[in-house]
Amino acid sequence: MTHALPTELLWVVFAGCIGAVAGSFANMVIHRLPRMLEHRWMREASDATGGTFTDPAPPDLFRPESHCPTCGQALRWWQNIPIVSFIALRGRCAHCQAAIPTRYLLTELVMTAWFVWCATYHDPAQATAWFWSVWGACLITLAIIDWRTFLLPDPLTLGLLWLSLVAAALGLLPVSPTQAIWGAAVGYLVVFLPGWVFERVTGRTGMAHGDFKLMAAVGAAVGPSQVIFTLLVASLLGIAMALFARRWMPPSSTEGGFDVAPGAIPFGPAIAAAAMVLQVWPLDWLALQ
Ligand SMILES: [Zn+2]
Repeated sequence: MTHALPTELLWVVFAGCIGAVAGSFANMVIHRLPRMLEHRWMREASDATGGTFTDPAPPDLFRPESHCPTCGQALRWWQNIPIVSFIALRGRCAHCQAAIPTRYLLTELVMTAWFVWCATYHDPAQATAWFWSVWGACLITLAIIDWRTFLLPDPLTLGLLWLSLVAAALGLLPVSPTQAIWGAAVGYLVVFLPGWVFERVTGRTGMAHGDFKLMAAVGAAVGPSQVIFTLLVASLLGIAMALFARRWMPPSSTEGGFDVAPGAIPFGPAIAAAAMVLQVWPLDWLALQ
């Protein structure tokens, strides 16, 4: 090729690389954050009741560096390169040959695809494209954590809520700051109220608090009418996921988090997927925004 690469293509490649790195970081957050939170809750419960909880603290998000969960061998720099290292190592630890779950590769690929989409659909030279990139990265991370542990950690849901409100205030979003606040309130209430009624009527918990906070975070970015569509699409996706999971891959409730009823399906992945699907295929024809 004799011509210089067009700027658009360079942006897309750059966004893809950032997305792959974000996916790699997300894998670490998915692995470590629920353990960190569980350790903190155990210690707080123990302190409050005068207990003697002395389990050593699990790894935090920055120390120690990545290592194989099976043999504990620290990864060399090139083994931290997302996607490429997984393929080069054929999905196995270089030291002990233990299989690395395919989930790690899938997270990195999905995150790469999302960042590429954001850089294609929005102008990657503007902050808006990067807001939506980070927004999707948070949703993907939350969806996988919820699927594995039935937890939607506050640092991620509330962090996303504040990020969206600030982005609206800076004029980066299609919604005004006022619409963002209404979106957060409506998002919270459209899942809180049915859940509250369900609990009163049946005596069982249908929704967890994390679902309310996640919907508030989505509402802050998309506004009050769009967040209602997000709930409708999420409900349909939730039913599809429940049917799929019952047949092929039940979410694990053994990794910590709350004790949940057998056969229960987390709703967070459906909310996250619905919110992202509506970004890619917006219901503009409803024109209610
Ligand atoms: Zn190993």
